[in-house]
Parts: sequence; C-alpha cells; structure tokens
Amino acid sequence: MTQQVMNINLDRLMETIRQSAAIGALPNGGISRLALTSEDKKMRDLFLKWMKECGLETRIDEFGNMYGRRKGRNNELAPVLIGSHLDTQPKGGKYDGILGVLGALEVIRTLDDRGIETERPIEIVNFTNEEGARFQPAMLGSGAMSEIFNKQTVLNSKDQKGFVFGEELERIGYKGLQENRQQAPFCFLELHIEQGPVLEDQQKSLGLVMGIQGMTWLEATVMGRTSHTGTTPMNRRKDAVLLASKLITKIHTLAEEVPDLLAASGRIQAFPNVINTVADQVVFSIDIRHPDDHIRERFEKMLKESLSMMTLVEEMELRIKDLDRIDTDYFSKEMIGIMEDAAEKHSFSYMRMMSGAGHDAKYLNRITPTAMLFIPSINGISHCEEEFSEESDIEKGVQVLFDTVLVLANKETL
Ligand SMILES: [Zn+2]
Repeated sequence: MTQQVMNINLDRLMETIRQSAAIGALPNGGISRLALTSEDKKMRDLFLKWMKECGLETRIDEFGNMYGRRKGRNNELAPVLIGSHLDTQPKGGKYDGILGVLGALEVIRTLDDRGIETERPIEIVNFTNEEGARFQPAMLGSGAMSEIFNKQTVLNSKDQKGFVFGEELERIGYKGLQENRQQAPFCFLELHIEQGPVLEDQQKSLGLVMGIQGMTWLEATVMGRTSHTGTTPMNRRKDAVLLASKLITKIHTLAEEVPDLLAASGRIQAFPNVINTVADQVVFSIDIRHPDDHIRERFEKMLKESLSMMTLVEEMELRIKDLDRIDTDYFSKEMIGIMEDAAEKHSFSYMRMMSGAGHDAKYLNRITPTAMLFIPSINGISHCEEEFSEESDIEKGVQVLFDTVLVLANKETL
C-alpha cells in the first residue's frame, strides 16, 4: 500500500532555507559563509533564535558547536543527535550541510506541531568549520568534539591571514564550555545533499549511506635530466614531464579496469618549469578511492609495480611517498534499516550507496552508531553557486529524517 502523507511542513522549511541563504548571499544564488566570520555569526544568531523559539535548551561547546535539546520522557537517557553544518565554501551553495541543520530544526518543529513526546531527548547540532575552507583540516568541530583532533591544536589553528580559531570563536561570541560537548549520544543522524551525480542518474530521491569510502594519497616524484630544448635530440632526452604524463595516463587506464575505483592526479609541478628546458623533475599527487579497503590496497600495490616498471624501461627514476591513508568507515546497519523502512512506508525511491566525500558523520561514527541520508544534487554539483536540489526531494529527505528520528528516540538499544 502506498502512503504519501507528509508530516513535515515544506513551506516552513524552505522559508528557513531562504532566510539562511540571505546571510552571506552571493549574486548568483549561492552563499559565502566561512566559519567564524561575521556572516557565520549572523547565521548562528538566527539559528539560536529559532532553537529558542522551539523551547530547546541551547548549549555551545568550546569549539563553537551549537546544540539544542528537546526533552524526552526520560531525560536520563542518551539523546538522539541530528544535524550537520551551517558554514559554506567561499562560493558555496545554499543546501549542502545547511539542509541537515535546518532539516533537523524542521523535525523538532513537526514534533511540536503534533505534540509528540519521545522517550529519549533529541538534540540538534550545528558543527563548526565543517568545510575546512577557512581553518584546516575540514570537519574540525565534529573531529574535536569526538576527540579525533587535539583540543589545543584545534583552538590554535590559523587561517591564511593568521587569525586564530580560538580567538575568532571568542570574537563572534561562540566560545562555549567543554562540559557542553555532546560526547555520549545514543546515535547520530545526518541529512546532506549527495554532492555527486549518482542519485540523479539512477533517478532515486534518497540515498541511504552505508559509509564513507577510504582513500590513499600518494606523491610521485619522477627524475629525469635537464637539457636544452633546442640542442638536445629527442632520443637523447630524459624528459620528466613526458614520463609523468605516461604514468598519469597509466594510472587512469588501470583505475578504469577496477569497478568503483577512482584515481586522479590533481596536483602537478614541473622543475625547473622553464620553457626552453627539458624538465628534470616532476612531482604529482595520486588520489585513490574505493569503498573496499582491500581492493584499494591491492590496487595501490599493483599501481606502484606497474609505474616502477615503466620508469625502469625509460631508464629514469621514480619515488613514491605516502601522504595519507584513511580506511572506509561503515555506518550502523540497524539505522540504515530504520531509514529504509521509512522510505518504504512512503514509497519513496531510494538506493544504498557510499559517500565519496567526508562529512561530520565520519567522526561521529567513531563515538556512536551513525548514519547519513542523501538527497540528489542536480547535475551532481556542489561547493558552487549553481548547487541545487529539488523541493520534492528535500521534502522526502526531511520526512524520512523525521520518521527515523521518531523510531530512534523511542528505541531502547541499537
Ligand atoms: Zn557539507
């Protein structure tokens, strides 16, 4: 039996998204709202006001993460935590993580509309500096709260102009207390736009996110020999640019042979980088991603062997340095099942998928059962002003968020 009855109020939700989009508004519909800027403060003030209007108990922790708590019948129980982030890239879109925070607010408002009490408390959250556009690394607020990052390192981190994270928090009035952290939630649920084209291509309204795929970052250095471009015959050269281009092409070809594997060389530098000199050195990055850590590791090994062989044939030298390696995070199967039940109940189209990008949920997953829900990004684009999601998908996403929270907030165990 199909049931399309919606509980949430789409018009009210879209009005909050419109009011958010006005803060840091860019000419083509996007937002520039970097973490801990005056625009971020203005948005935080508005969000705080909205939370208070709902009667939520608000708290700010020492990293500026904002919480709003709706009491349950039993307030000794750990709360269901839902939310995402309100900061954006320098030229960001108006949905991104904003949808996850304002969607969480809409869940609270809908519970209030209907006078629904839950067993557990529910807390909504806005994490600080998720984007990593101003302070690095990304997901600083959620990572610090989950104790993945060192507290002092986070508070002392500087932006490009030398402004200090902790001082900027104080300047905008959002430096709270450590005791306000939510470190023991019952679970965490994050709604977000997909930021890729898969849901749209598959014509699905919802993505039940199974986890965040792992990645390997390498840096390759190719060494050849400098020579004059006008005097050195082609067959006498050891051209590092030429070999690097062959290696990068090979990486791409090998990656295409492995289903779901992604590889790219997005950063490249040639030395001495002079027009009339054959380069003797090229340094380029290799970014490898796959949802299965074993496949990613096997690919990396095979890739290194293959590139070394090619270099040997050219009688040149190749060094490959490890930069970073992050394993795949898998979300709570039980929570995915609850989201699936909700999608089924409403006959919404959905699919299970992995997240290619990092999110606050990645770090929350280290401390509590966690899940994420995606809605389609039109043309798969985000982190730009053209970022767009259909209202009908937004409505479905927030409705499933509502249904799922209602189940979780009355659940004894996970
Ligand atoms: Zn985001």
